[in-house]
Amino acid sequence: MNNKELLAEWSESMQNNYGAPSIALVSGKGLVVKDADGKSYLDFLSGIATNVLGHAHPAIVKAVTKQVGLLGHVSNFYAHPNVVELAQKLKEMTGDPDAKVFFAQSGAEANEAAIKLSRRTGRYRIVAARGAFHGRTMGALSLTGQPSKREPFLPLLKGITHVDFGDIDAMKRAVNKKTAMVIIEPIMGEAGVVVPPADYLAAVRDICDLTGALMVLDCVQTGMGRTGDWFGYEYSGITPDVITLAKGLGGGLPLSAMIACGASAYLFQPGDHGSTFGGNPITTAASLAAIKFIEKNQLMGAVKRHEKQLLAEIALIPRVSEVRGAGLLIAIELTSPISNNVLVALRDNGVLVNAPTPTTIRIAPALTVTTAQINTFIAVFRKVMANVN
Ligand code: PLP
Repeated sequence: MNNKELLAEWSESMQNNYGAPSIALVSGKGLVVKDADGKSYLDFLSGIATNVLGHAHPAIVKAVTKQVGLLGHVSNFYAHPNVVELAQKLKEMTGDPDAKVFFAQSGAEANEAAIKLSRRTGRYRIVAARGAFHGRTMGALSLTGQPSKREPFLPLLKGITHVDFGDIDAMKRAVNKKTAMVIIEPIMGEAGVVVPPADYLAAVRDICDLTGALMVLDCVQTGMGRTGDWFGYEYSGITPDVITLAKGLGGGLPLSAMIACGASAYLFQPGDHGSTFGGNPITTAASLAAIKFIEKNQLMGAVKRHEKQLLAEIALIPRVSEVRGAGLLIAIELTSPISNNVLVALRDNGVLVNAPTPTTIRIAPALTVTTAQINTFIAVFRKVMANVN
């Protein structure tokens, strides 16, 4: 089937919650994907910041193929070497010897787990950020600070307050000794890669310490090397009480985690929470393969180098007002609301990105991106910006 036929069948058989896609992708290798008409694209979105090693990476293919032929699923009645090794690895990354991990499949589920964990403090109130995205299940949607996504589904969870992201005084006013948790993203990804002031995370840590509220960092989008660090908050020097991860964690397979540090690692008791597929041997095999490849090939150093080039060169392109972000999570702010036209023109020129706001283009290429591919992206983007209206 070609693009047209697949898209017609999509509309016939899929619910209309996403709106209709524009092309159907059928294969990929590294950062190059092919659509059903045989056209190739440079993928600078990576399944929304997910395929950290690109498409069909040999390390992931090998690990998954081996595991699926050995033991595909065991449930949480039984331990499995992969889940144990990955949990140990994530503990190590936090630097906290007390950290403990819960696995699920999606970012929303990781945040749901954090909400339930925080209820075990005996408190229920939560403070989150306006504009934040934490997922679309009813609990995660209650945290999400975007009215258009929330309002059709009211009423949501009680006791949730949203404050302006980056505003330390607003956070101080909102958090008190009744607050179970504060949840923020190190960088708000879906809101358009919004970067907070440099001292924000440390200030929120102080507020949480004073009030006893858990500090939850939603690192679903910033995690797994994307910013040039494992989680995206390390520059701040703090340790949160809870870290949630998904997207890049599974190297393209559906895997998420809620990591609880310090005393919060002991809040859940047997029976408090669960997920049939959580910590599945295949998804954890993919995750371990991705992490080992990132470490062995020092990809996070390369990410920082690419960041420098992208920020410097894109800022010089006419009709770009700002380039912001960290590592390979970058927003290009345009001087007028033409982001959707830019997205379409880039796609027609063989480059995939996304447009989280009418003035913003977001790029999140795989960590394996080469300098030649970055150069190609910049050249195509420059050409598109010279022509699109
Ligand atoms: N948290 C953040 C920061 C996200 O960016 C997303 C998805 O974009 C989510 C949570 C929800 O993840 P999922 O779509 O896997 O439920």
